[in-house]
Amino acid sequence: MEIAFHGAAGGVTGSCHPLTIGGKSILVDCGLFQGEDEERAARNGTFGFDPKTVDYVLLTHAHLDHCGRLPLLVKEGFRGEIISTSATRDLVRLVLLDAAGLQAEEAKRESRRKARHGEEESAPAYTELDVFDTMDRFTRIAAYGKPFTLCDGVRVTFGDAGHILGSAWVLIEAQEQAKRTRLVFSGDLGGRDHPVLNMPSPAPVADVVIMESTYANRLHKPLDSSIAELRDAIGDTLQRGGNVVIPTFALERSQEILYYLRDLVERGELPHHLTVFLDSPMAISATRIFERHPQSLSPLMRDLFARGVDPFHLPGLHFTRETSDSMAINQITGGAVILAGSGMATGGRILHHLRHNLWRRDSSVVFVGYAAAGTLARAIIDGARQVRIFGEEVRVAAHIYTIGGFSAHADRDDLLAWLASAGTPRHTFLVHGEDAQREVLAATLRERGLRVDLPALHSHYTL
Ligand code: ZN
Repeated sequence: MEIAFHGAAGGVTGSCHPLTIGGKSILVDCGLFQGEDEERAARNGTFGFDPKTVDYVLLTHAHLDHCGRLPLLVKEGFRGEIISTSATRDLVRLVLLDAAGLQAEEAKRESRRKARHGEEESAPAYTELDVFDTMDRFTRIAAYGKPFTLCDGVRVTFGDAGHILGSAWVLIEAQEQAKRTRLVFSGDLGGRDHPVLNMPSPAPVADVVIMESTYANRLHKPLDSSIAELRDAIGDTLQRGGNVVIPTFALERSQEILYYLRDLVERGELPHHLTVFLDSPMAISATRIFERHPQSLSPLMRDLFARGVDPFHLPGLHFTRETSDSMAINQITGGAVILAGSGMATGGRILHHLRHNLWRRDSSVVFVGYAAAGTLARAIIDGARQVRIFGEEVRVAAHIYTIGGFSAHADRDDLLAWLASAGTPRHTFLVHGEDAQREVLAATLRERGLRVDLPALHSHYTL
């Protein structure tokens, strides 16, 4: 049995881990490289293996850095099955169509620039048609806690990872001659106290663990203090007369923030008619998908839905699907809370809102999620005084808030708690973390007698 790491190895994006068992090739995740990882990986088209040889893809969840290269895989000859939970499949469709749309826009912009220099046009990496071809390959649905036979000698079980709607860890039980091996891929794990989702199910007992390490060297602040920070950031900005811009990922974080805002308004801690724009067609559609998958939601959410209460709705909430409605928000000079993607400000409508508000002293930008190195979000968080948006230099004068406690990721204690139930694995790989993060966790695990590896990009191991 062999495993290779063709992404999220020394970085946090591009998850892509092929496993070879008895002549079958099983790929766990097929994510896009973003930000600095993208540069490190040279380009997203380099898989490090032949997509035609892959038999199965087991997909942990619908974040772009876990599913974003699936259309490329299909385009380059993958003809096997993709297996995920049903909520993941629904969200993947949305996420990939959005990605294809962004790439088309990007290619158009790039082509215009090139035309001015007499160069050849740019083509997007994949189109909506490639996404539809990809969706046709989702042939089987996995349910939490229900083992199924993937192929001869390989059984697979998905468990709730509590990270985003439909997210899963994946247990692979492989029988090769007399040798039986249990491997678990954590995917991305959620933390405790998540109001919208369940806690991650404990890790199954495993011989080999491939675990994420995004926040392996951090402890999240308590949720209550983060909600108070959000309330104060909004309250202070309203008083100054500016707007609040919140870059959010359309999946889950948008819904989570809407839930907190609704709760704060209901408790009278924010004005009853607080004007909130969910300026993301994808987040609007994602909210509908949440309603269709109550099995993946926390008991609190299920209870609210059952009582006919929409936990993501508040009185002053506006959904802006159309571009013209989104552009109209630019005319608002104060009093608006604007949620838009992408969460790391690598593209999408958030760029327009940042361009209109970043230079204003009375406005604020509130970061509520992870920002990978090399992204615009990270540059602003790290204190850049000037940033480049759509080729234009924009001064950073707005108040910048970074609220860490809303993370959809497990912190160090959550990771250790999850791993504890795996027993004593003979081999643990830490992926999906920047080196500074995973080295600290590796040291802790080695002190406990575990064999830990920090795989490099495109490295192979025999298990
Ligand atoms: Zn994720």
